[in-house]
Amino acid sequence: MAQRHENDHPILIAGGGIGGLAAAYALAYHGIPVRVFEQAPEFHEIGAGIQLGPNIFRALDKIGLKDAVLADAHRPYAMEMRCALSGERVIQIPLADRRFTDRFHYPYAVTHRADIHGAILKACQGSNLVTLETSRTVEAYEEHDDGVTALLAGGERVKGRALVGCDGMWSKIRERLVGDGKPRVSGHIAYRAVLKKQEVPADLWQPDVILWAGPRTHLVHYPLRRGELWNIVAVFHSDRYVEGWNAEADAAELWDHFKGQRPEVLRMLERIETWRMWVLCDREPIKEWHKGRVVLLGDAAHPMLQYLAQGAAMATEDAVCLAEKVAASPDDLPAAFEAYVLGRYLRTARVQIMARVYGDFYHARGPAAELRNQMLRERTPEQSYDGVAWLYGGP
Ligand SMILES: Cc1cc2nc3c(=O)[nH]c(=O)nc-3n(C[C@H](O)[C@H](O)[C@H](O)COP(=O)(O)OP(=O)(O)OC[C@H]3O[C@@H](n4cnc5c(N)ncnc54)[C@H](O)[C@@H]3O)c2cc1C
Repeated sequence: MAQRHENDHPILIAGGGIGGLAAAYALAYHGIPVRVFEQAPEFHEIGAGIQLGPNIFRALDKIGLKDAVLADAHRPYAMEMRCALSGERVIQIPLADRRFTDRFHYPYAVTHRADIHGAILKACQGSNLVTLETSRTVEAYEEHDDGVTALLAGGERVKGRALVGCDGMWSKIRERLVGDGKPRVSGHIAYRAVLKKQEVPADLWQPDVILWAGPRTHLVHYPLRRGELWNIVAVFHSDRYVEGWNAEADAAELWDHFKGQRPEVLRMLERIETWRMWVLCDREPIKEWHKGRVVLLGDAAHPMLQYLAQGAAMATEDAVCLAEKVAASPDDLPAAFEAYVLGRYLRTARVQIMARVYGDFYHARGPAAELRNQMLRERTPEQSYDGVAWLYGGP
């Protein structure tokens, strides 16, 4: 670990989601003091599942957190796509056999957001270089030659060496730094629910990640928390717009979109009494993530649709890269931030763009869906791995 610069102000971090906490811990791991401001009254993640490709474990391994995140995760044997109309298994991609691990060297896992967030939070709490503060909203900032002042709700001003905006999709730091308005509303909505294993009919329980692709819909389910929970996400096209990750959902709207699909799909939807929803948004890729001593990370920098299941992974890769660049250039943070952005923006842009393509692919209708199924049916596992090697093999 690098030497701590004793007399320095800490680096300030706005936002304590997966990206903000990963950045805090990665910087502390390199001996750099940080102060995290989270607007919520406590550090927590909403109750939903998240898929973790091998690339996030490669990043976590660099800061010693791989095993902590794997501890409560579930390791699916395979990922399957099924047709939501015919029930056909279109493709099955092994995730836990030698071919996968020989190729990517790290596992594929699924976990509860609270579990990955909790593992990183615990690591931060164990570091004397990380100060965690809740009910603290960063409203704006002022930059000076030798630092940044964060302006908090309530009027407090806090000085730091630099400011990392990890404040998510609706980032205030981005608003000031880039000023490119609100995120793009994709016209897709995700409904989600988490059940206990015993609430899932035995014949529907599967240890794998299963995606039911339907016309302008898909349903994905997988176990969480060592197999004790069951995560369901149903996505369909809708023009509704509500800001935030945790809005009340209207089940009638969901049923309209899934009617006519396989009984397995409908029986799964029937199990859910209360849905929460996300309106899915993203942005065009940009590379202006930093100016002087202020820099963006995670969804604040490159919000993406969830179709590649990579938002948290990209935020974690960002965090590790940022900390490495700061450690390499501790006395010139603007240069370190420049190097970080250069190291990250094309990779994250590719994920932003490809996530849209995958969304169209999953939601294809008519001949486009037939063509998709024909192409996928013929694929060997090795060909599937080739298709994601740029992602899972990196950064
Ligand atoms: C349906 C769906 C499924 C997904 N599935 C996956 C998946 O399988 N795998 C994957 O890797 N990713 C997935 N993602 C993406 C992933 O959830 C996000 O990309 C990731 O959580 C972004 O982390 P973040 O820390 O950048 O932002 P956020 O998680 O949004 O965290 C931002 C934090 O900042 C706080 N905050 C906001 N404004 C301020 C402020 N002004 N001052 C202080 N604090 C503030 C917020 O309260 C929050 O705690 C999915 C997303 C969706 C919508």
